[in-house]
Amino acid sequence: MAAQEETVESKYVYDFAEGNKDLKDLLGGKGANLAEMTNLGLPVPPGFTITTEACQAYLTTGREPDGLAGQIEAHLEALERQMGRRLGDPDDPLLVSVRSGAKFSMPGMMETVLNVGLNDRSVVGLSRQAGQNDRFAWDSYRRLIQMFGKTVCEVPGEEFEHALDEAKHAKGTHDDLDLDADDLRGLVDAYKKIFAKHTGREFPQEPREQLDLAIRAVFDSWNAERAILYRRQERIPADLGTAVNVVSMVFGNLGPDSGTGVAFTRDPGSGAQGIYGDYLANAQGEDVVAGIRNTVPLQELEQLDKTSYDELLGIMARLEEHYKDLCDIEFTIERGKLWMLQTRVGKRTAAAAFVIAGQLVDEGLIDLDEALHRVNGAQLAQLMFPRFQLDHEFQPVARGIGASPGAASGKVVFTSARAVELAAAGEPVILVRRETNPDDLTGMIAANGILTSRGGKTSHAAVVARGMGKTCVSGADELEVNVPAKKFTVAGRTVTEGDLISIDGTTGKVYLGEVPVMPSEVVQYFEGELDPETTDDALVRAVHRIMTHADAARRLRVRTNADTGADAARARRFGAEGIGLCRTEHMFLGDRRELVERLILAEGGQQRDEALAALLPLQRADFVEIFRQMDGLPVTVRLIDPPLHEFLPPLEQLAVNVAVAQERGEDVAKEEALLAAVRRMHEENPMLGLRGVRLGLVIPGLFAMQVRAIAEAAVAVARDGGTACPEIMVPLVGAVQELETVRAEAEKIIAEVVGDSGVDVLIGTMIEVPRAALTAGQIAEAAEFFSFGTNDLTQMAWGFSRDDVEGAFFWRYLELGIFGISPFESIDADGVGRLVRIAAEEGRAARPGLKLGVCGEHGGDPDSVHFFHSVGLDYVSCSPFRVPVARLEAGRAVITTTGSDSR
Ligand code: ADP
Ligand code: MG
Ligand code: MG
Repeated sequence: MAAQEETVESKYVYDFAEGNKDLKDLLGGKGANLAEMTNLGLPVPPGFTITTEACQAYLTTGREPDGLAGQIEAHLEALERQMGRRLGDPDDPLLVSVRSGAKFSMPGMMETVLNVGLNDRSVVGLSRQAGQNDRFAWDSYRRLIQMFGKTVCEVPGEEFEHALDEAKHAKGTHDDLDLDADDLRGLVDAYKKIFAKHTGREFPQEPREQLDLAIRAVFDSWNAERAILYRRQERIPADLGTAVNVVSMVFGNLGPDSGTGVAFTRDPGSGAQGIYGDYLANAQGEDVVAGIRNTVPLQELEQLDKTSYDELLGIMARLEEHYKDLCDIEFTIERGKLWMLQTRVGKRTAAAAFVIAGQLVDEGLIDLDEALHRVNGAQLAQLMFPRFQLDHEFQPVARGIGASPGAASGKVVFTSARAVELAAAGEPVILVRRETNPDDLTGMIAANGILTSRGGKTSHAAVVARGMGKTCVSGADELEVNVPAKKFTVAGRTVTEGDLISIDGTTGKVYLGEVPVMPSEVVQYFEGELDPETTDDALVRAVHRIMTHADAARRLRVRTNADTGADAARARRFGAEGIGLCRTEHMFLGDRRELVERLILAEGGQQRDEALAALLPLQRADFVEIFRQMDGLPVTVRLIDPPLHEFLPPLEQLAVNVAVAQERGEDVAKEEALLAAVRRMHEENPMLGLRGVRLGLVIPGLFAMQVRAIAEAAVAVARDGGTACPEIMVPLVGAVQELETVRAEAEKIIAEVVGDSGVDVLIGTMIEVPRAALTAGQIAEAAEFFSFGTNDLTQMAWGFSRDDVEGAFFWRYLELGIFGISPFESIDADGVGRLVRIAAEEGRAARPGLKLGVCGEHGGDPDSVHFFHSVGLDYVSCSPFRVPVARLEAGRAVITTTGSDSR
């Protein structure tokens, strides 16, 4: 028997009374919060919300889903009953606004259409409703045609602006308040002509048609070019869709006892408590932000309308207590009656985020877990850059996108070559381009900062600058850059090569001249130069409090990557609990090159052993210094990793030297030998060549010397009463046999050196070759720890070399959405992360208690830290400056499952 088919119609429309603030996915942020305020009993004009699901259905099929029209009809009728008015009724019209509102607020989308329902007849009814206020009615009508024309029918907005200017000009005024009813009636006629000219039809007189077209336009605006661009930049999923809010109109333009305003419950810049807002009397909607007339500080409303002011303050306090956070609000006063039109948890600066979280804990509104949830590592990282010291002397001349944070000043240059030239002469430079391309790479490296007039957060300039940790402002489109003429113009000024400018990679602001830079007080705190208990700096107190909580909450340990005693000491002040990666390469550079050359050119075992013996004490001294600085904490030392030819002069240079010396008849035996060695060691793909453990297995005594230096240094430190905890790490292992061979030799040396000194030396491996991850169970038999080298693992899993690809094509991949973010910035959880997961699981299965960590810049990246926490690693290791960020995010990973979700 076939079951009777039943079609359940989806619910696409929600009355404000049916929703709440947790339904942002379905109702969008604006709709969910209007519902929440309605249910709190706050004065919200009645209305309803069309869901994001209706929008998604429309966008996939190209037409409104079945049932939507009927549901809108039903909700509209209910609204009409509640208001005692009918939409667009000629005698006593109900008017509504149609407002977009996605889950995340998106500036790229359709703006609001106010006064929907007005037409040639209801405009008369509206005037009567308002006590024969013709001026108001015609002003409302001309606004409808303007907004509807512009946002629904894509009529160029300037045409309306132009007609408005002409009307004012004819009247001899600059203020639209001086236009009377007749002027506005004339303006409506002019607007209608503009509308008809551009759309080929008359302005729609049918109220319901106006409403349906406006709703459809909001749906369509989800896929407007600007919206798509914004979503890409902010990594907002493309399939969320937007909700549409239909709200009965209230009027702030009914006279001096009406008005409209915006407010914050705290200062979104600093977090300071107080009332921050702007108010504009006798105005509607966007007039406040449009800068048409001068607004007054919200405090002045107290004189204008004390009752409404007090009610507003009461509501703001209530909202803060309810949302337990900084709220921003939009409101309108209609003839002395206050209406709430919007609220949301307000955006804020990084500093305000910490300060407010601290205040809310003090006020008992949230606990420390919640405070930790509300800040994030990206904000902390921002606060650790030096900042411009801005007084009124410096006003930004342009604003682009803060593409890579920091504060940089320097002389303007327009070409890569000039950047390199000036930088070589010790001059700080800012490379200015319309956009950069791979040819600009050397200039970008030489520059202090990079400024482009085109491109967003995923442009070539932005991606490469972030990879290099270099300050970058992209897309400053007010700049007219003329590279051949070596100048740019902005705000009527011309800037030529050699002029000083300053750019702020956090705010995107561009300044002329050299803005003085001041150190970050947060870094001063981490350095121990500011006492959090006694300072009057609210930010430092808040950071201290939240960091302390993060440290108590986190399971992941945080270590640092450090190759010198000085780095180790600084990282320790920043909270590092050991070294996760000490590279030994630099110990083969400088005046030690000579010894390396001897090692490479050695003819026979004896010469080689002599070279190694000479290197041994130097290495030992390096390790002693590092172990002392990290007294009592683990130090992972990686045996030499790069191919040896990297320590020799480049081939071309050697060839020239040899040729010149031969010409002069000098003795070139040594140079010739070097040249031959370099030729012999030349590799097509050095990244995949003779390096890491392969080198150790090919050059007898090399690893042995390093192991001996490490063990002897540890014993020396122990003799002086210190505690060294060395962990010897073998790089680039792909097969357990490699590790076993190194291990057998190392164990002998360690046993011999350590004796009964009590020093314990662990031996483990990096997991950075995919094969090592896939055979982790075998490798764990020979390793006491794994450290994931996620840079190499990413390169080898994807099969691309970082140095070559980041500048060459990553921007394109980001543009196409193949990457959401560069896999070198944030770990690619699906691919590379899967290798990490497999290795962690199979390694621990073979050797319970196997110590697991990660070294490489992913260790300090917020999203990656959350991933490593979820995989169950023991620690992350990152550069000293990233240590506080990793500590904070490791704490957040415990209390947050979603990662950094604050947009
Ligand atoms: P945005 O998302 O750009 O802030 P809104 O939908 O909030 O757009 O609308 C902008 C402004 O329009 C509001 O701040 C408010 O001043 C005005 N507005 C919207 N709906 C109404 C309404 N029903 N009555 C009066 N003013 C309204
Ligand atoms: Mg708004
Ligand atoms: Mg590596």
